[in-house]
Amino acid sequence: MNFNEISTLTEAQAREYLEQIRWPTEKACPRCGSVNVVKLNNTAVGSRKKREGLYNCRDCRKPFTVTVGTIFEGSHVSIRTWLMAFSLMCASKKGISSCQLSRMLDVTQKTAWFICHRVRYAMGKEPLKGMLRGSVEVDETYVGGKLRKVNNLGFSHAKRYDNKTPVIALVERGGKVRTKVTANITARNLKNFIRNNVLTDSKIYTDEYRGYKGISAYFNGGHESVVHSRYEYARGDAHINTAECFFSLLKRGVMGSFHKVSKKHLQRYCDEFSWRWNLRKIDDEERTLRTLRQMEGERLFYNEPLRKAS
Ligand SMILES: [Zn+2]
Repeated sequence: MNFNEISTLTEAQAREYLEQIRWPTEKACPRCGSVNVVKLNNTAVGSRKKREGLYNCRDCRKPFTVTVGTIFEGSHVSIRTWLMAFSLMCASKKGISSCQLSRMLDVTQKTAWFICHRVRYAMGKEPLKGMLRGSVEVDETYVGGKLRKVNNLGFSHAKRYDNKTPVIALVERGGKVRTKVTANITARNLKNFIRNNVLTDSKIYTDEYRGYKGISAYFNGGHESVVHSRYEYARGDAHINTAECFFSLLKRGVMGSFHKVSKKHLQRYCDEFSWRWNLRKIDDEERTLRTLRQMEGERLFYNEPLRKAS
């Protein structure tokens, strides 16, 4: 369903749509996995308030709805609003700010911010499907922070970077991207990240940063670098333009949509951009559906949206 279709749904239809995505074949209890479930009349005797879409598990004898055990659990936001948020975030190439989302969905900015982070959590949950292979570009960048003036003469090089957060990206040409937010960029950090995510018969392309020195020893395809300081951006196949393209999208999101991204949450934003990048070849509707399928997960709380997946 696209955004238009979702926005015309009633809450009951939205719930039904979510049930279809979560349980394509049979409804199953989220606690014990049993399919021996029965739909409850939500005005049943003894129930204090009406609860929509309630089922009961005959094995563990506990009631559940489609949102139990998902990122929607315990949320007072309507399912239709959640679906619209998923759709908007999956379709916005450069990201969408919580302020904008709050206006479009008619919720407070605080609620919109939280919705965004839960959706990012779902996006970052993608199980790693194998290692990167082939031609892999590696690049590092610094995101966020403000230039700090050290004296009247201007900005020192060190001060220019000390309140920015380094991010490393591995981009397989024609394939997927992996990102990592680190405390600082060191040769060890770079090499570990590359070796843990790239198959050994690949070829590595980097810029001239000295932290990459010696990486060719681990990869049969070898290592080539371009020297940006000498205005060399491509030498035949040797370039990191794909990785720089990814970073430019990320930075446009940070500067143009989010304006400010805290260090603590930067990995979430990187996950969002990687997710859209990795699914760039399918259309917005399909991407929304793929993201919704990852709704199951630990419940997140407002003040700890960064809690790790189990
Ligand atoms: Zn059960």
